[in-house]
Amino acid sequence: MPYQPFRVTVHSRDQADLIHIASGAHRAMEEGMDRMPKNLALPDGTIAPVACRLGCHHCCTQQVSLTLGEIALVAGHLAAQDDETRRRLAAAIRAALPRAAGRTLSQRKLDRMPCPLLGGDGACGLYAARPLACRAYLSADLDACRADAEAPDAGVAVPQPVAAKRGQIQLMLQLLQREAAAGFQGGEFELIQALNLVLDDDTAFTRARQGQDAFAAARVRA
Ligand code: SF4
Repeated sequence: MPYQPFRVTVHSRDQADLIHIASGAHRAMEEGMDRMPKNLALPDGTIAPVACRLGCHHCCTQQVSLTLGEIALVAGHLAAQDDETRRRLAAAIRAALPRAAGRTLSQRKLDRMPCPLLGGDGACGLYAARPLACRAYLSADLDACRADAEAPDAGVAVPQPVAAKRGQIQLMLQLLQREAAAGFQGGEFELIQALNLVLDDDTAFTRARQGQDAFAAARVRA
């Protein structure tokens, strides 16, 4: 079993705790990835090498779901960027909102809108803070990724490893449990709407800690 449960100690029930919890899950994901064989075991039983390469970003046009702690982690990394980068990414996040707001998961699958955190070089602008969903997305077939991105309604199946998907689900569940146990009004949220909420309201995490559904507008829609 490559993915181990992660353990973190919560102290003050504030935004720093959320970041601490999410970082624990991300570390567990990376350690699990490191233990995985370099060739991928696919759902049909075949084995194939990883096709993912730096700058390849066909998958970065899908909806990203993340937890409250992961929002805090991404927001923290955004705040730590230099002025020019922070302004550029914030502008891209705001510009992406009209296309993302109110869409369901399946609508977003068809929209295939580029993630606002993508850089001009095709790499993630906040790579160290990327959510579990992004960390777990590995492909064994670049042509399938490209075909899926170009024709999202064609039903192209991108071959993905079973172990990474299973690890993502396990760690996501643990993350949600730990955030709830730490007293936060959490859940699964959509990246673009969640980051817009943080940009517009610096009390959002405090209100979530007080039991308010401060990120309600960003909840993932089935
Ligand atoms: S957060 Fe980064 S890795 Fe995830 S979809 Fe956006 S650009 Fe891609």
